[in-house]
Amino acid sequence: MQVAGLRQTQATRRVLALFLEDPQWSPTHAEVKDRLEQGPGATAAQAPVNRVTLYRLLERLSECGILERHADASARSWRFTLRPAQDADGTSPALLPRFECDACHRQFRLNEASEPTRDVADQLLKSLEALGHHGQRIDLAIHGTCAGCTPG
Ligand SMILES: [Zn+2]
Repeated sequence: MQVAGLRQTQATRRVLALFLEDPQWSPTHAEVKDRLEQGPGATAAQAPVNRVTLYRLLERLSECGILERHADASARSWRFTLRPAQDADGTSPALLPRFECDACHRQFRLNEASEPTRDVADQLLKSLEALGHHGQRIDLAIHGTCAGCTPG
């Protein structure tokens, strides 16, 4: 993976590896820190992760378009997810709706919804244009309970 303008520090590589390993993972800053320090692959030889360093790293990965940042009102913090490859070039607005489970905070991309979503997105962008606005990015999110968290 190419990381433009980022130093390939050990921390960067480890953080990216966590996201690539589990593309549906949608952690807060604190959860990334926990997994870095306690997850598999963490060893005593590795230096503990500095909170501020990690926060800046996540911010920069979001600015480069490698991660997406979503506000989580209930946790009062940001959640970070791996940005899908088809959006990484930044040429097209992100049109894939995502589904977020409010119980486990995993995120699912609804790939099969991409066609109808594109139509809706086109309509929305056209209405904005008619009003003189310029829409650049659409973020569609559906919240609910995933199959794994639904009882029964
Ligand atoms: Zn769930």
